[in-house]
Amino acid sequence: MQFQWYPGHMTKAKRAMQEDIKLIDVIIELVDSRVPFSSKNPDIDTLANGKSRILLMNKYDLADKAVSDKWTKYYEEKGYFVATVNSKNGRGVKAVNDVIQKACKEKIERDRKRGILNRPIRAMIVGIPNVGKSTFINSFAGKACAKTGNKPGVTKGKQWIRLNKNVELLDTPGILWPKFEDQQVGLNLAFIGSIKDELYNIYELSLLLLDYLIKNYPDAVADFYEIENSDSNNELLERIAIKRGCIKSGAEYDLDKAAKCLVDDFRNGRIGKISLEIPG
Ligand code: GDP
Repeated sequence: MQFQWYPGHMTKAKRAMQEDIKLIDVIIELVDSRVPFSSKNPDIDTLANGKSRILLMNKYDLADKAVSDKWTKYYEEKGYFVATVNSKNGRGVKAVNDVIQKACKEKIERDRKRGILNRPIRAMIVGIPNVGKSTFINSFAGKACAKTGNKPGVTKGKQWIRLNKNVELLDTPGILWPKFEDQQVGLNLAFIGSIKDELYNIYELSLLLLDYLIKNYPDAVADFYEIENSDSNNELLERIAIKRGCIKSGAEYDLDKAAKCLVDDFRNGRIGKISLEIPG
């Protein structure tokens, strides 16, 4: 029900992206390193239509490094050029330049054979909402970036950011839609905060998050809140409520507030570097 507006919106976004993709040499797709599968939209595979593909695992600072390494390998085997980045502090962002050169090696070679030298590579950022597209563009383009104006007949009014003499970036990212159909994907996107809060119950979400954390990172929650572990997730939440002073008048635990605390602490990486899915 809540996504009734979606099909029309999707068709329009898809068509716009199809047009943009015609103008570029390489697609730089951003995913969230904590959920490199759930935050990736498979429709881009058909839209990409043979273009070079770079996969950037953003928010690398929030994910489990060992798991991210596995994802890097997984996507490399699928033919992507992969890099891990933290767009917020800029770590790994510069190196993306080299990845672009590598991904476009054949194109550069083709140009050279035709006598075209130094034609900039044109790139475009795509990804679902909230993966960090704008943050990455700002970090990648830096302060020294110059927006190249409209070039009639060539760019059709598109704004390009000239990154250096080799690379131009389309200044508006392509927004892909998440794949809500899969329950687990929806849940993972809710965990990382990519789905509107109104669409789920925070208390239930926090219990499911605790389920996952206790199974995969058994001590992370207890260590962070300095509480005893418990077999009961509800009891764990009560302990968090005590620690965080989430108490209603009448000395009752405010479990919704504690749940929000837990989910926020997770989303901001305070509980630890945690990945929510592994390849395969
Ligand atoms: P967009 O919707 O894809 O354009 O996403 P934004 O660029 O608006 O980023 C969404 C949120 O993620 C913002 O609060 C950013 O500060 C944050 N963010 C972006 N990149 C990173 C990153 O690499 N690490 C962390 N920790 N946060 C990031």
